[in-house]
Amino acid sequence: MDLGIKGRRGLVCAASKGLGRGCAEALAEAGVDLVINSRTEAEITRTAREIAAKYGVEVTPVAADITTDDGRAKVLAALGEADILVTNAGGPPPGTWTDWSREDFIKAIDANMLSAVALMQALVPGMIGRGWGRVVNITSQSVRSPIAALGLSNTARAGLTGFVAGMSRQVAPHGVVVNNILPGIHATDRADSLDRGVAQAQGIGLDEARRQREATIPARSYGRPEDFGATCAFLCSEHARFIIGQNILLDGGALNATV
Ligand code: NAP
Repeated sequence: MDLGIKGRRGLVCAASKGLGRGCAEALAEAGVDLVINSRTEAEITRTAREIAAKYGVEVTPVAADITTDDGRAKVLAALGEADILVTNAGGPPPGTWTDWSREDFIKAIDANMLSAVALMQALVPGMIGRGWGRVVNITSQSVRSPIAALGLSNTARAGLTGFVAGMSRQVAPHGVVVNNILPGIHATDRADSLDRGVAQAQGIGLDEARRQREATIPARSYGRPEDFGATCAFLCSEHARFIIGQNILLDGGALNATV
């Protein structure tokens, strides 16, 4: 299927590996020129070089912490305007609800809610002016089905979801399509680190922790960054014009719910 976005310009945040990279690759395959970002210079530069060589599009790496004002300013300066925005950042650490301080909440809300809001505020007005835009926010399955140990994530991502629910309907009349994708468990370094925590707590091996988790997923495997990226690219395509303010859950059926 031709996604109809060849020659568009996009920003994918937190994209040197994992889900962000999956999105960057799928957009590059559709012919989108990209700015990609993550904090570690060597990693993001290597990823940009690999994606550009594989898909023949322009890929500009920017090493910056997207959760800070300075980091976003650096990314936006390299980007200029964009037709497509994919927001993403690392997830907050697990813990116990009684231990989280105000500072812990502020840090999580800055990283997983307000940095996405700031990027939309910076880029969506230009999209509105040009009458076309696509935004995908990478959130989490925890928006639909809370993960108790990830309470900081549950909280921050619920806030972003509420913001998008209203804002996406305000910008839709101008050709700007804003949606969220909610990853269930995907095979990335983030999943490995969560599984390592489970393995340690239960005194089992990493493989066993993963087998146990896979058994709870109807699809009986972890999602892959490339599957995730393909969904993201579709939501950034011409064909997504009627999908407004939705929360697309990619979890292999893990959430047991009728709707
Ligand atoms: P990952 O494999 O660990 O990759 C994270 C990427 O983000 C890396 O490129 C990392 O590079 C970059 N990054 C992290 N913090 C950043 C920051 N402050 N500024 C810029 N770049 C940053 O993680 P993932 O699995 O792709 O997860 C992506 C998001 O989805 C996270 O928020 C995670 O909580 C959420 N999620 C993941 C899953 C899953 O199963 N994988 C499930 C639900 C939700 P640097 O470290 O070099 O910056």
